[in-house]
Amino acid sequence: MIGAGLSGAACARALGEAGVDVRVFDKGRGPGGRLSTRRADTPIGEARLDHGAQYLTARGAGFRAFLEEARAAGAAQPWTGRLVSIDRGGNILPLSEEARWVGAPAMNALVRFSLADAALECGRRATRLEGGPGAWTVRFEDGSGEGPFAAVALTLPPEQLVDLLARTDADFSGLIVDARGALLAPCLAVMAVLGAPFDPGFDGAKLHGGSLAWMARNGSKPGRTGPEAWVLHARHDWSRIHLEDDPERVARALLEEAWVRFGLPKPVWAETHRWRYALAEAAPGTPFALDDSGTVGAGGDWRLGGRAECAWDSGHALGRALAEGLAAISLRA
Ligand SMILES: Cc1cc2nc3c(=O)[nH]c(=O)nc-3n(C[C@H](O)[C@H](O)[C@H](O)COP(=O)(O)OP(=O)(O)OC[C@H]3O[C@@H](n4cnc5c(N)ncnc54)[C@H](O)[C@@H]3O)c2cc1C
Repeated sequence: MIGAGLSGAACARALGEAGVDVRVFDKGRGPGGRLSTRRADTPIGEARLDHGAQYLTARGAGFRAFLEEARAAGAAQPWTGRLVSIDRGGNILPLSEEARWVGAPAMNALVRFSLADAALECGRRATRLEGGPGAWTVRFEDGSGEGPFAAVALTLPPEQLVDLLARTDADFSGLIVDARGALLAPCLAVMAVLGAPFDPGFDGAKLHGGSLAWMARNGSKPGRTGPEAWVLHARHDWSRIHLEDDPERVARALLEEAWVRFGLPKPVWAETHRWRYALAEAAPGTPFALDDSGTVGAGGDWRLGGRAECAWDSGHALGRALAEGLAAISLRA
């Protein structure tokens, strides 16, 4: 499997449940993908900031059961912060009553929990596949290879998936065309650590009518200790225009807007993170796609929509489909 985000974790779990041995490779320093918590050394101590997904909601029984299981294992907690939406005129409405979850103590704990039984290798960027159905080799950017694998699950954002497939000799034109129909919007995120507690009357706010789409007080989430820390997300259209801007200018612009609208004080430490692929804007609408041989599959949130639950549903369905295909092959053999 390539990709240890939530969709990869769900896929590995489904394969493991079917008795399939799984190896998972990810290019990152650790698993989690967009479920990520940044550790930062700041002048007033170490801070931890959830700079990607802010919370998870479960509308289906499968993901809800997984979150409850993760909670029982200490890897997930409900977030009961004061969450609101605020328009340009300053009108405030509470967000819906829906349960909102976070990984504990960090967002990627959910992915680690789901991958507990899989062999995971991080720091390995896959560049292409070699071989063919039933005997795939994964080639990495340092020239090394792993395999042969009976099947390969690719749980990457569509742009990275197309890159990998386009470098591969086998004919993946169906998967490539399908992935090109998806689009992930970027998001510029600013992490800010303040010298003193700051309470604007909410812990998380969806914002309308400016460059900011969201801001949240990290310390209001369960288990997040350390100095007062806030995360700001820009709107997608603003992020798209300013994606290549100097990160310090991005931070200044978004922090200034938060100061003008809510009085957010000047931070003692701030950093910008560029999420090039953040949330799905266009999705194929089916949970996964398989190549003609049924041994290479693609999944991820981008197949179903812009929520973590979509990643889970997609990965889980892909894992089950690959496991069924492998079982059918071994019956024929
Ligand atoms: C700023 C932001 C805010 C969000 N807010 C929310 C929210 O509040 N609620 C919500 O439900 N969802 C939210 N999301 C969306 C949520 O994070 C995603 O839906 C979900 O995490 C996607 O999981 P995934 O496994 O599909 O993809 P990813 O998490 O992107 O995982 C893909 C993995 O593949 C790896 N990879 C990529 N290329 C290669 C390669 N060539 N070789 C090896 N590994 C590779 C990456 O390192 C990564 O770990 C947000 C996302 C962002 C960025």
